[in-house]
Amino acid sequence: MKEIKHFINGQYVGSAGGKRFDNVNPANGQVIAKVHEAGEAEVDAAVKAARAALKGPWGKMTVAERTEILHRVADGITARFDEFLEAECLDTGKPKSLASHIDIPRGAANFKVFADLIRNVPTEAFEMATPDGAGALNYAVRRPKGVIGVISPWNLPLLLMTWKVGPALACGNCVVVKPSEETPSTTALLGEVMNAAGVPAGVYNVVHGFGGDSAGALLTAHPGVDAITFTGETGTGETIMRAAAKGVRQVSLELGGKNAGIVFADCDLDKAIEGTLRSAFANSGQVCLGTERVYVERPIFEEFVARLKAGAEALKIGEPNDPQANFGPLVSLKHREKVLSYYQQARDDGATVVTGGGVPEMPAHLAGGAWVQPTIWTGLPDDSPVVTEEIFGPCCHIRPFDTEEEAIELANSLPYGLASAIWTENASRAHRVAGQIEAGIVWVNSWFLRDLRTAFGGAKQSGIGREGGVHSLEFYTELKNICVKL
Ligand code: NAD
Repeated sequence: MKEIKHFINGQYVGSAGGKRFDNVNPANGQVIAKVHEAGEAEVDAAVKAARAALKGPWGKMTVAERTEILHRVADGITARFDEFLEAECLDTGKPKSLASHIDIPRGAANFKVFADLIRNVPTEAFEMATPDGAGALNYAVRRPKGVIGVISPWNLPLLLMTWKVGPALACGNCVVVKPSEETPSTTALLGEVMNAAGVPAGVYNVVHGFGGDSAGALLTAHPGVDAITFTGETGTGETIMRAAAKGVRQVSLELGGKNAGIVFADCDLDKAIEGTLRSAFANSGQVCLGTERVYVERPIFEEFVARLKAGAEALKIGEPNDPQANFGPLVSLKHREKVLSYYQQARDDGATVVTGGGVPEMPAHLAGGAWVQPTIWTGLPDDSPVVTEEIFGPCCHIRPFDTEEEAIELANSLPYGLASAIWTENASRAHRVAGQIEAGIVWVNSWFLRDLRTAFGGAKQSGIGREGGVHSLEFYTELKNICVKL
């Protein structure tokens, strides 16, 4: 049986106590590896290795040297593309057709984009007057923040982890990563790429384990961690923020959402259907930016529901290797339990089940997998938990609206504020509505279009801070002002 070990100070090491947990393939329920679970000793060793590396060759490198190495990391991922793809798809069950277009290429791009950005980032300088008339010069320099704790989720494991590690390393920090217990493989594999690219030992460290009472909590509590960047559920974000308060450490939190799509009668319906289908069902609905609430202007409501139903029913459920498949299992049986509890809740709350609502019949060799049907509901009250809580599954509720004001009010009615998608061919309306939606990202006639230079993050309870482009640099560096009396 394959073993997945921690990556500390440039080496793969097991847990001192030998404690391990199962890594399960969600497509068939089979155990694919045993993962070492970090305790205090391993987390402490990883943090210490990172602190030492800050003072070692990494801390002394020029930006040009450092960023050249990060380009080699990106090239290393690309060179081992098939291995990363296989590992990611075994851990998550997602179709290879999806991961080969999004997860793995973005994993590599996250190193190149931020390496290039840091080479060109400006700072500021101010001349000031002094009473003696000689003046003084202020200038700012960016310094790495230190050791960054990176805690990542399971839905886009390589992509979301490197989205933090890429800029953190570009800025000269060292990292200790705690990937999700569900998807440890690509984070582990990246250690080999780091070594081959010439990243000094201790710059990139990985500890495996669970969240609370395990590696996650140990890492966030460790006083040697200078800042914490986290992607995951809002509730976990609150816990991490409390942990970061000890020692007054900065956090960047990318949290949950319950995103609204707003479809106006003047939209291009083909585009709106195609975009909403992707936003509700891509990655089996396990995308933080996905749409679980769809508001459709009444004149096109019936047609929209019928066409989205047809699209959902045309999705091809299958395992990662199936080239036709565009819909995989959920990440785990545990997560399926959660999603199915909402499917039941929808029935209890009187929903009309337009399509799905249960577990699909699968061939015998996949029967142990975490499969659910893509599901669409109508007719739920606005206060049903199915409409107000993040499900993180392949499902959406569609509700009609009559006026622009009503649509905006509905979209803004929840404490979440991550993303939204507006579908209209009326340019004035697009800008007017986008400006009023309480979300970190608003798409108009599109979904999931991402330029890595732009700000990314959530409003309200969907997060704190922005990453992406120069905003990542703000988080991963400390701006120091130097004042020189002339
Ligand atoms: P999660 O919060 O359960 O876990 C995320 C990570 O935090 C895991 O590595 C987990 O082990 C760790 N963790 C859990 N409890 C912890 C604790 N007490 N201390 C330290 N670490 C802890 O989230 P998940 O189920 O892995 O991911 C799904 C969630 O992530 C959804 O809510 C989704 O919306 C959100 N998400 C948000 C974004 C975004 O950019 N805003 C992106 C992807 C996913």
